[in-house]
Amino acid sequence: MPRPLHARIDLSALNDNLAVARRRAPSSRVMAVIKANGYGHGILRVARALRGADGFAVLTVEEAAALRGAGMRQAILLLEGFFGAAELPAIAQHGLTVVIHSRDQLDALAHARLPARVDVFLKVNTGMNRLGFNPEQFGAALGRLQDCPSVASIGLMTHFAGADEEAGIAAQMAVFEALTEGLAYPRSLANSAAVLRYPQAHADWVRPGIMLYGASPFADRSAAELGLRPAMTLMSEVIAVQHLRPGDRVGYGGTFVAERPMRVGVVACGYADGYPRHAPTGSPILVEGSASRTLGRVSMDMLCVDLSHLPQAGVGSPVVLWGEGLPVEELARVAGTISYELLCALAPRVPLREIP
Ligand SMILES: *Cc1c(COP(=O)(O)O)cnc(C)c1O
Repeated sequence: MPRPLHARIDLSALNDNLAVARRRAPSSRVMAVIKANGYGHGILRVARALRGADGFAVLTVEEAAALRGAGMRQAILLLEGFFGAAELPAIAQHGLTVVIHSRDQLDALAHARLPARVDVFLKVNTGMNRLGFNPEQFGAALGRLQDCPSVASIGLMTHFAGADEEAGIAAQMAVFEALTEGLAYPRSLANSAAVLRYPQAHADWVRPGIMLYGASPFADRSAAELGLRPAMTLMSEVIAVQHLRPGDRVGYGGTFVAERPMRVGVVACGYADGYPRHAPTGSPILVEGSASRTLGRVSMDMLCVDLSHLPQAGVGSPVVLWGEGLPVEELARVAGTISYELLCALAPRVPLREIP
């Protein structure tokens, strides 16, 4: 028998979550964000499951070329544009859309001799202060794109820093609207949180990521409440059982000490699989569908779970680390991170099994 750990990928959940995005933003086109190997779900698998999307957003030319190679004809947006002028011919050849966020990129585009003109999205920094032209640079940047013979079409975009939080989007929206008022170009602003919470930001293209994978972008609303279904369920089994007496310890450092007799299950999953080592004793986990808790430190290939209240559980009992029945956001919160990081960090050694 192979090691029991695997991630089940539910293709119909991906598709249903796309339908939720469409229902929430009915007059927008949907650019499905599938960077970071489709948030750990497998980029081509996700693209096929979401082939009804109007476009895809990725990070690199290599990812985009793989999508074209798999027959995807939709718009493909490179979220950070190109990293050097040498990438431009391939971008033109594959018919990719590029974010333009810097002077260097404008210069490279202006000097390029390309086999075809490229579609661009001009990125405005409206307050996140990560990528994009500042409001005072916006007019000049737009003018250069309008004059650039290598540009086929122009779109305008920005990205929100706090659409999932108290901060909201009002300040950034106000900057974007003031700058782009009266311009006829298509616009794109909304990540998942804005798709779900701010209809006024939907515009021409929405860019949902995390919601498509069935995780909530909000701390105060669960995915289920939003009508989303987890696309990934990380599953394993108990591979050994230990019986502890009071005073016995569990795992590296012996950080968990039993106060009474306990049964402990050893689960085939560790931090080398992408399970967060920061998950403390008490992190949520399911054994045979019942809620339990982890015990002690997470090891490289294993972690321990409390079976004391589950007398029927033992070697071979199925375990859910996150996914169906245990939202990845819940484990993320307890481990001091976010669902995005857990999904993206799933290790390549974990086999993915599709279910239709
Ligand atoms: C990753 C990303 C998104 C998707 O964000 P989610 O929170 O996963 O919906 C949208 N836009 C940009 C620019 C991104 O980098």
